[in-house]
Amino acid sequence: MNLIFLGPPGAGKGTQAKIVVDRLQSVQISTGDILRAAVKEKTELGLKAQEYMDRGDLVPDEIVIGIIKERIKAPDCANGFILDGFPRTIEQAKALDELLKKSNMKIDHVINFEVNDEELIARLLSRAKAEGRSDDNPESIRNRLKVFNEKTQPLIDYYRSVQVLRNVYGLGEIQEIANKVKSLIGS
Ligand code: AMP
Repeated sequence: MNLIFLGPPGAGKGTQAKIVVDRLQSVQISTGDILRAAVKEKTELGLKAQEYMDRGDLVPDEIVIGIIKERIKAPDCANGFILDGFPRTIEQAKALDELLKKSNMKIDHVINFEVNDEELIARLLSRAKAEGRSDDNPESIRNRLKVFNEKTQPLIDYYRSVQVLRNVYGLGEIQEIANKVKSLIGS
């Protein structure tokens, strides 16, 4: 089963993706994690991406599309994957459609995690303390939420129109939300 987890930063996509991955023996593909690893290792990709990430801006589409193109070809994706944090723009979604079509794959469900801005800001600020992420500062957080509303929110309509969108209210206990996800995807 191939899934997309959509939702603003701090909505719990990564946490929920890990739970599903453990249950279904699939893989989590987080463009944010891949980019952070590249920044840490100071690779060419990392050096290009860092300034965008620190500001809370999106890394250019062609860079993240290139990452996904390589990643979903890997053998471990054959058993199903969860895209966590990709796509984030209509351009990325269209590129993904093309990529999947070429490899005879499809997305089974898009899970849209809904959490209000106040709660997101509180969560991101507390994550900043716990994990020390350089983009979890108030200025970058504000920008990431703005970027989400401008660039990523339109994907909700995009996926609703092809009828694979499922909404999950993202406030509550982690396990309670995991149960909702489980019943929506049917396994
Ligand atoms: P995340 O961990 O998903 O919140 O991503 C952290 C940062 O990585 C984002 O604020 C962006 O700068 C960058 N990033 C991650 N995924 C994408 C994507 N699909 N498109 C563009 N930038 C991304």
